[in-house]
Amino acid sequence: MGNQIAFEEAKKVIVGGVNSPVRAFGSVGGIPPFISRGEGGYLIDIEENRYIDFVQSWGPLILGHTDERVLDAVKDAVSRGLSYGAPTELETEVANIVATLFPHIEKMRFVSSGTEAVMSAIRLARGFTGRDNIVKFEGNYHGHSDSLLVKAGSGATTFGKPSSAGVPEDFSKHTLLAKYNNIESVKDVISEEVACVIIEPIAGNMGLVPSDKEFLHELRKITKEKGILLIFDEVMSGFRADLRGAYGVYGIEADLVTFGKVIGGGMPVGAFGGRAEVLDHLSPNGAVYQAGTLSGNPIAMTAGKATLEVLVKNSKLYKVLETRANRLMSGFEEFAKREDIGFQTAVRGSMFGFFFNSEKVSNFDDALKSDTEMFGKFHKEMLKRGVYLAPSQFEAGFISTATTDAMIEETLKIADEVFTNLK
Ligand SMILES: *Cc1c(COP(=O)(O)O)cnc(C)c1O
Repeated sequence: MGNQIAFEEAKKVIVGGVNSPVRAFGSVGGIPPFISRGEGGYLIDIEENRYIDFVQSWGPLILGHTDERVLDAVKDAVSRGLSYGAPTELETEVANIVATLFPHIEKMRFVSSGTEAVMSAIRLARGFTGRDNIVKFEGNYHGHSDSLLVKAGSGATTFGKPSSAGVPEDFSKHTLLAKYNNIESVKDVISEEVACVIIEPIAGNMGLVPSDKEFLHELRKITKEKGILLIFDEVMSGFRADLRGAYGVYGIEADLVTFGKVIGGGMPVGAFGGRAEVLDHLSPNGAVYQAGTLSGNPIAMTAGKATLEVLVKNSKLYKVLETRANRLMSGFEEFAKREDIGFQTAVRGSMFGFFFNSEKVSNFDDALKSDTEMFGKFHKEMLKRGVYLAPSQFEAGFISTATTDAMIEETLKIADEVFTNLK
């Protein structure tokens, strides 16, 4: 069976043929390859086409597909059962790895997705402060829970409007919006009625847009002054931009930090943590309810632990991955310049991003000015030649330890050709 037929069959029984919307390739056209397996830095589809994979399951697979250290640990764990619904020492071990890397995270809790981690962290912030309002940034994604599905409105937005059907305005009216990298827009909406400000400190869900250092330091300062909890959503950037995520890059301690993606090593895991004083408001110690049948699942914890152990032991690998990401982005930039195509790039550790845009991108409004049509064409031509990039202009790219220098060079050769015929 080929990709075309597989997609048709899937669409009959699965909405849109996919279980997460962007996978349907709607914004780039064409059909998504159906995957039969991964191999290191490659994805292989059911037609045996081989792709250099710069998506890596949307971030989790920093060691690439089929890393033996992770797979062996998982196989061993599977032989002892898939789930217990009771505590294991494994959970404590993974929590200790995180607490060692992030000294301001004294206690944490594991859940099964990034969405759940953020949703729970917000509830905890509200329970801890006794305040209802939250502030988020336009273009930042924090999973699909109701109060966070509010994105960019017009410039003067204060009270949020839901950006999905099915979210009552009543649910999102406590979500205030600010502009990324714009401290004045934060000052405009914060008050002593705000429970928390949540931010992707290294934003990866409007393309890759890292925050300015001064902006982030100022954000830390003004939230502290008003007794507002600052939440760093490091579901994507944690263990990705740096071993210590944004904390490693900026040295700023958030009150709550959320994790996902890499922390599960390819299995469904999310986590949130912070000072004991805050976390102890969570049940069973406190009044904020939060629970999960499969939370701390032993197979998921095993994959996460095996992955984190490799990262901790080989922390120099972030420099290697960053060098590769820089090589890739400076190559793309060179081809774009040669063809007189407006192009912006960013790299943070193993994360990279590029925009077909003539101006610097530092917030959502800037990102939206990108040429998505040209991106779509670029994406299609790269895919045809065996390079698997995220199927949207507004997603980050990822380098894994299995993405070799040779794969980068091969990608550049392909991109050189594709840029030539892009305009
Ligand atoms: C992916 C992501 C989420 C949501 O995580 P899921 O596991 O998809 O629910 C939340 N926040 C950020 C920053 C993310 O990148």
